[in-house]
Amino acid sequence: MSRAGVYIHIPFCRARCSYCDFATGAYEGALAESYVVALTREIEAFDIIRERAEVDTIYFGGGTPSLLTRAQAARILDSVRRRFQVATGAEVTMEMNPGTVTPEGLRAFRAAGINRASFGAQTFDDAELRRLGRTHTADDTRRTLSMLREAGFDNISFDLIAGLPEQTLEAWELNLNEALALRPEHLSLYLLEVHEGTPLAEQIKQGRYNSPDADIAAEMYRLMTERTQSAGYEQYEISNFCLPGRESRHNMKYWTGVPYFGFGCSAHSFDGAAQRWSNERDTRAYVGLIEEKGNAVSTRDALDASDQSAEALFLGLRLLTRGVNLAEHRAHFRRDVLTDYADDLARFNEAGLITLDGDVLRLTPAGALLSNEVFAAFV
Ligand code: SF4
Repeated sequence: MSRAGVYIHIPFCRARCSYCDFATGAYEGALAESYVVALTREIEAFDIIRERAEVDTIYFGGGTPSLLTRAQAARILDSVRRRFQVATGAEVTMEMNPGTVTPEGLRAFRAAGINRASFGAQTFDDAELRRLGRTHTADDTRRTLSMLREAGFDNISFDLIAGLPEQTLEAWELNLNEALALRPEHLSLYLLEVHEGTPLAEQIKQGRYNSPDADIAAEMYRLMTERTQSAGYEQYEISNFCLPGRESRHNMKYWTGVPYFGFGCSAHSFDGAAQRWSNERDTRAYVGLIEEKGNAVSTRDALDASDQSAEALFLGLRLLTRGVNLAEHRAHFRRDVLTDYADDLARFNEAGLITLDGDVLRLTPAGALLSNEVFAAFV
């Protein structure tokens, strides 16, 4: 088995952002403690894969994992080390939100073994931050970055969102310029998706904000690919950019069919072959299930050969520079993509969304922007 990844979901935030549809709720100390107890129990009792698999990435996602105490993070990591064989030099990432960390807290996380920080800057414009319901300012983001550097973090990623309600191309350009000037090792740059049922969707419906304009969003995407490239970042995935060698090793597992095991409410797992499963989404129900029976798995999917081929194809196409080698794909999955999807591929080729270079199928920049439409053909 290839070295696996471990994902730990921490479902607590200081406040809920208006665009968020993740499984997360407000932080409560007592619930957070019983959640950590449940998490460590789930990790140590994990028996879906029986062997003590080797793991070389651990990812604390959320939610806002930086709301954990140092002791809670250390207990979770101890459980991972007891259940899995954690490789020397493993990448251990924690998602953080500006304004939720202190210099002492960051040094303590670093000492506990966390060596990569991914934090949600989202925008450097305070009015845009308020509109999103974020609880921090742009200055908090700048301060968090210097605190991280001072605490010894040399592998840092920022998230920024483009296409915010009312955001102009010029405002996005300023955000991008500031992010690039701060020179994080990695950037995740997303176009805003407005999810039904979120407060933001409601505010747009009520006419309080204009919905992001698709043409401006496309121009923002073009600007981000151009600027990041001239600043020395490689766009290795549709929304992810990095300095040489600084890809997110954990997220690469999601796109390349490597096993990953998720723990905590709503966490997803994949055995690297044909099994996917996920946990109960609600935090309290998750804790109850772990207390009652030691696991909280709520869905299981067995992928047949055609599902496996389709997944490898649309996940692999996300990796823009690497693409999908169709000869290797055929050897592995015994499926001929050029025959299976002949009509769709002809259509995408004609629209300039894909290229075939020898055996390697890739999305073009236009295809990256319209990737959801391309991937819909494969699922
Ligand atoms: S901080 Fe992140 S996870 Fe928490 S509510 Fe905001 S967007 Fe959602």
